[in-house]
Amino acid sequence: SLSIGIVGLPNVGKSTLFNALTKAQNAQAANYPFCTIEPNKATVAVPDKRVDALTAKAKPQKTIHASVDFIDIAGLVRGASKGEGLGNQFLATIRECAAIVQVVRCFEDENITHVDGGVNPLRDVETIETELLLADLQSVEKRLEKLQKMAKGSKDAKAAAELMQGLLAHLNDGKPAAGFALPDNETFLASWRELGLITAKPVIYCANVDEAAVADGNAFVDDLRALAAGRKAGFACICAKLEEELQGLPEEEQAEMLTSYGIEESGLVRIIRTGYATLGLCSYFTAGPDEVRAWTIHQGWKAPQAAGVIHTDFERGFIRAEVISFEDYMSHESEAACRADGVLRVEGKDYVVRDGDVMHFLFNV
Ligand code: GDP
Repeated sequence: SLSIGIVGLPNVGKSTLFNALTKAQNAQAANYPFCTIEPNKATVAVPDKRVDALTAKAKPQKTIHASVDFIDIAGLVRGASKGEGLGNQFLATIRECAAIVQVVRCFEDENITHVDGGVNPLRDVETIETELLLADLQSVEKRLEKLQKMAKGSKDAKAAAELMQGLLAHLNDGKPAAGFALPDNETFLASWRELGLITAKPVIYCANVDEAAVADGNAFVDDLRALAAGRKAGFACICAKLEEELQGLPEEEQAEMLTSYGIEESGLVRIIRTGYATLGLCSYFTAGPDEVRAWTIHQGWKAPQAAGVIHTDFERGFIRAEVISFEDYMSHESEAACRADGVLRVEGKDYVVRDGDVMHFLFNV
């Protein structure tokens, strides 16, 4: 499944945030028996009020939310690429991730050393992104050499090598791979996909503040928010320490604690939701007496592909889907009432599934 990697300089609060996510995972573990436990991975439910509403209505035996995987990727320090480079483990792990949460220190604390002397979010972002860019430069250089060797025997590889040269120049200008206009060349694109360039991935900037700034932020947070906005990137302001404490409490006490800090929603929830959206994901639902469940798909997927998330047989043998919008489902007494009222639609293989659709699939085995 799609995962989001957590990166940042040392002592910014990555482990604290990851611990909070792991606690959230463990509290939910009963609902996700199919998830394997790995030390650097936390699989957490994506909170969704619609799933709660469907549950209240359908009264199923069990409810399963959509989930997102967060991966703790330690090992990023200033100058890494000048020495031995970012570790192979770091690179392999981050390349597998579909998006990145960059934790940036926005709290002052005399007792916690900042690796570069003082708190300065914009400098820290620059430090991290320089290292990531250098790592991408190295992988593109290697790939270019390979393509150039192949280019002697193949026109196709020659064209791809020239395009790769263009990408190298782009990175050498200090620009992230995300801004590179992808050419229409399958050999190049195959290389591009295999490389999994880090600076091509969407980023969520996460300001980590202390308890005092959690409601209203501070000047550091403003800087980081402006940077994120300028890059049209995701942004969230959290207090990792508070999140870790929250996750150890029963639900009612969590709500009380949030209120006492003047915030409506836990930062973890905001990170999880922002992550889900940043990955370009949305949910459709199945609802019945056995189970209410959110299924994760990409925005724009058609009905058969969406059905394939439940079971590959559903995709292969897809006949049609019965679809009720979430709103119609909630405002009618039952599915029979939806049918009688004409709001249950029968859709074919070209139907683009919408976020919030309640679906039944009919298929051949
Ligand atoms: P990492 O090296 O990025 O994984 O950072 P850690 O999560 O280990 O945090 C480094 C130190 O900062 C620890 O002593 C944390 O308790 C502390 N810390 C983390 N988040 C916060 C925060 O929001 N406020 C304050 N005051 N300290 C924090």
